[in-house]
Amino acid sequence: MKQFQIPYKNDEGFLEKLKEIKQWRTSHSGYVTIFRIYSEDMELEHIRHICACLDDEMPDALYLGCTTNANIMDGELSDTKIIITCTIFEYETTQAKILQFPFMEENAAEDVALLKKYCDENPWVQAVEMHATIMDMSMMEFCSEMSGLREDIQVFGGGAFNPDMDDETAFVFSKGNDFLEHGIIFLLLGGEDFHTYSTLISGWKPLKRKFRVTKADRQILYELDGKPALDVYRRFLNINKNDRFFSNTLEFPLFLEHGDIDILRCPLAVNNDDSLVMSSDVQEDAVVRLAYGDPETILASIREDGQNIADFCPEVIQTFSCAARKAFWGDENISDETILFNSVAPTTGFYTHGEFLRIKGDMLNFNVTLVIVAMREGDMPKTGSKVNIAKAQIDNDNNEKIPIIRRFVSFIEASTAELEEMNMKLAISSVTDGLTRLYNRAEIERKIRSVLDNSNKQGICSNISLIMLDIDNFKKVNDVYGHKEGDHVIQALADVLRNTTSGVRSCSLGRWGGEEFMILLSDSNADDAVVLAEKIRLAFSSISYEIAGCQTVSIGVTQAKDENADVLYSRVDKALYTAKAAGKNQVVRLD
Ligand code: GH3
Ligand code: MG
Ligand code: MG
Repeated sequence: MKQFQIPYKNDEGFLEKLKEIKQWRTSHSGYVTIFRIYSEDMELEHIRHICACLDDEMPDALYLGCTTNANIMDGELSDTKIIITCTIFEYETTQAKILQFPFMEENAAEDVALLKKYCDENPWVQAVEMHATIMDMSMMEFCSEMSGLREDIQVFGGGAFNPDMDDETAFVFSKGNDFLEHGIIFLLLGGEDFHTYSTLISGWKPLKRKFRVTKADRQILYELDGKPALDVYRRFLNINKNDRFFSNTLEFPLFLEHGDIDILRCPLAVNNDDSLVMSSDVQEDAVVRLAYGDPETILASIREDGQNIADFCPEVIQTFSCAARKAFWGDENISDETILFNSVAPTTGFYTHGEFLRIKGDMLNFNVTLVIVAMREGDMPKTGSKVNIAKAQIDNDNNEKIPIIRRFVSFIEASTAELEEMNMKLAISSVTDGLTRLYNRAEIERKIRSVLDNSNKQGICSNISLIMLDIDNFKKVNDVYGHKEGDHVIQALADVLRNTTSGVRSCSLGRWGGEEFMILLSDSNADDAVVLAEKIRLAFSSISYEIAGCQTVSIGVTQAKDENADVLYSRVDKALYTAKAAGKNQVVRLD
């Protein structure tokens, strides 16, 4: 595979380069030839002219392209508005095919069906490079249809864009087809000697604190944790609704986990109701985190993950990077991300509005991400000098000082972890009784009310029972053996309750107060509850304490009807009182 890179400045230079290409093809074995044209020049006449030149000069060559936010050539942000790359395949076995369709949300599935059909009929297809106009479109259905493509096919690409980030106009075009403002192009590549490896790198790192998407619709993120989405940016980062909103949030996009794949979404604008317009769809119920972009950390990620690209020994590297990354780094520094790859193979590409990559069969729509595609014909060179990206960079990097931002992030993560642990302990202790570690009165009451409410709401005949227990003659234990021994007996009863109910389904244990306990059985009738109560009574009375000797407990049992909690409490209390009145150390059931 041979690659020529042509920054288009004028016809003279362009035609000269075409001559060079034609000469190369005659002196070498050159087969399928593909031109990719990326243009931040929105004057279609200029691009049409280039296409016409190609039609005339090299009628057998394929070409395709799109308008872009900016272009990458020789691994760097290009200062020419139109860049053209020419890839010549050197193996006769390598094949290519361009499919172009009108593309709108309504017909996305039809387009994918046509692509699928072609791929099924042509087993040589191994990779699909795609360019599409995607502004203001939900790509959810498209992606889910694309996931059904033959499993071994890699898919990658980027959305057509406009040099003005606020302008939604964008075009795609290809040989023999119209320029489309709503269109999609698939460049199909494959053949037994064609090899490709695609991956993605973000470099933005998530902070620990999680938020749940409680309300979202396509690209509009309404609520996080039940509050207007802007709240998170305002409260945690002091980012407000103003002209700088987009550039401020760029450093802190939202991070979503999709299985083990990280996806970023950028807030583009704020609506009047403080909901956020995101760069692509966000799904309700997703868990998101704030991610932070730190130049050093991003470059470290690129060096680490980029090594796989170098190890593939590519002949050509295609990149689809996000315009938001360019806005984040600025034009002077953005090339730091891609220049590394040019030392591996000629690296071209463009800045887009949405990056696409199929991972483990799943077609995904990314933002703020760098998709990198390595291509090669033939086997990996056995003695090839593999480039060590990480090493090359570290050699240049004498500064081992850890940037202050990473220290701060480490501080934030440690504080968050501490707070989360403290919150968890607090949450547990607020519902737990200190002496027995059973639920406290408030919590067991809350559980009883909630179970009753649910069963009343569903109108189902309840299978809810209560068991209430009170230690017999407990004042005497305190008076004769001391308060401390009294505490031991209370704790011993709590242990008996835990042990005897360990296998019982839907069972909650609470300390009602003093030496009284309540058991909620939310899936047992009174018959089962009596059997359990008897087991508890026997188990407790069979313990002999060193100091207090044997003690007993009286127990009331009842099953809930269609009634409120207070009525239920008074009946179980009455059952317990009856057990006491009848001589204690017994179970009484009241229906
Ligand atoms: P009955 O058989 O009728 O239940 O007689 P009783 O002596 O057990 O009477 P009652 O239930 O009214 O007595 C409860 C006693 O439990 C009173 C109180 O001093 C004691 N008590 C309450 N909470 C605790 C505690 O946390 N530790 C100890 N040691 N004693 C407690
Ligand atoms: Mg009592
Ligand atoms: Mg008592």
